[in-house]
Amino acid sequence: MGEWEIVIGLETHAQLTTASKIFSGASTAFGAAPNTQASAVDLALPGTLPVLNRGAVERAIRFGLAVGGALAARSVFARKNYFYPDLPKGYQISQFELPVVSGGAVTFLLASEERRVRLTRAHLEEDAGKSLHEDFHGMTGIDLNRAGTPLLEIVSEPDMRSAAEAVAYAKALHSLVRWIGICDGNMQEGSFRCDANVSVRRPGEALGTRCEIKNLNSFRFMEKAIEFEVRRQVELLEDGGAVRQETRLYDPDRGETRPMRSKEDAQDYRYFPDPDLLPLEIAPEWIEEVRSSMPMLPDALCRLLQERHGLSAYDAALVTESRDKARFFEEILAAPGAVPGTLAAHWTNGEMSALVNERGLDFARPPVAPGALARLLARIHDGTISGKVAKEVLHAMADGEGDVDAIVDKRGLRQISDVAALEAAVDRVLAAQAKLADDFRAGKEKAMNALVGQVMKATGGKANPAQVGEILRRRLSGG
Ligand code: ADP
Ligand code: MG
Repeated sequence: MGEWEIVIGLETHAQLTTASKIFSGASTAFGAAPNTQASAVDLALPGTLPVLNRGAVERAIRFGLAVGGALAARSVFARKNYFYPDLPKGYQISQFELPVVSGGAVTFLLASEERRVRLTRAHLEEDAGKSLHEDFHGMTGIDLNRAGTPLLEIVSEPDMRSAAEAVAYAKALHSLVRWIGICDGNMQEGSFRCDANVSVRRPGEALGTRCEIKNLNSFRFMEKAIEFEVRRQVELLEDGGAVRQETRLYDPDRGETRPMRSKEDAQDYRYFPDPDLLPLEIAPEWIEEVRSSMPMLPDALCRLLQERHGLSAYDAALVTESRDKARFFEEILAAPGAVPGTLAAHWTNGEMSALVNERGLDFARPPVAPGALARLLARIHDGTISGKVAKEVLHAMADGEGDVDAIVDKRGLRQISDVAALEAAVDRVLAAQAKLADDFRAGKEKAMNALVGQVMKATGGKANPAQVGEILRRRLSGG
């Protein structure tokens, strides 16, 4: 297989967090009995008129500001006409020629390198209903509860060059919309779904024909679907064939994409301005009001943590992966005792994240409060316990056994920093491990790690490893 360049552009639908629909007062709550939340307006029954939800617009403004896009002073809602059973009114209200947000970009780390994906636009639209293929004995049911749910469709430029990069972009976008509070990001419930446009070309050539893979609602599926699609297109082209522009679906059970329909063009939709809705006008004062209510963005916080607390770019990016996690981290730093930022980041990203996942919780409801973790870290920092023992203590804290000092005392975990006691432990290990000692004297540096490990084991993890290393070196050089 010769050189092929992969080209990917994503279209993402983020469901906005308003309590009611974009053009009606019906509830957007997930999980209600079918068709109990579909109002006459959502179905465009005769005699009804849509009224724009101010909260949906406010969220679009937040997004535009967060990605550095241009906010249109005047944008227009258009009807996108098509037939589908889950769209009984025959058209979807969307924005076409004049979207609310144009331009902007999303930046993120990919294998430690900063990447930037440009955005084409973001527009407001309503969601359609849903076909239910289960439980109907071979029939399909229609649930219109989702009809009229506010969406922000975010369209990227074809800037991504690998499946991994597309996933990294989608994760960054997912984290950003949650950070600014415009979308809950729940992918199982369909609150955040992506369509991936994929093509391949010889480097330097014009863009190839693309296929669009619809409705990817997990990052893992997205990666697999794109990888499959790239292989399919390359094989087709290398066999002398041509890619047909079409819409495809990913089947996770078979791990392949399958054609769904040939691609329609914008003109097939007969877009026209919705005569029931006035153009959307956004006053500069409103934009300023929203701007002043915005939290510090993850990018800015990420830079600040590196500058002010010496975090690595990687650690800072991980800490700012969600607003709850960042807040948790900042609360550790704000707690009395002032533990170093790098130690706090290490534990927030490492052991604490693992614990949060293990217990099916999140950083908004952590198993150990940030203040309590701060006291634990202070005990590592002042040498009372080793990092290894601290892991055990953290789990005990999560199990409700009390605060760090109580657990350390009760379990007798205080680090042995009494030199005489450590020297005795070292001598016992050297006597039992003559081979390792000889190896070290013969220049095998690795033997040192093994010896330290033996002493740690002999002391139940309570020795200070740095101190043990020093004593070992002294002993082995004849001291
Ligand atoms: P449509 O309106 O038909 O969906 P757009 O031109 O708006 O088409 O593009 C939709 C998405 O497809 C955008 O994210 C864009 O970056 C991406 N895209 C366009 N051309 C290509 C291509 N040749 N290869 C990969 N992605 C593409
Ligand atoms: Mg599209």
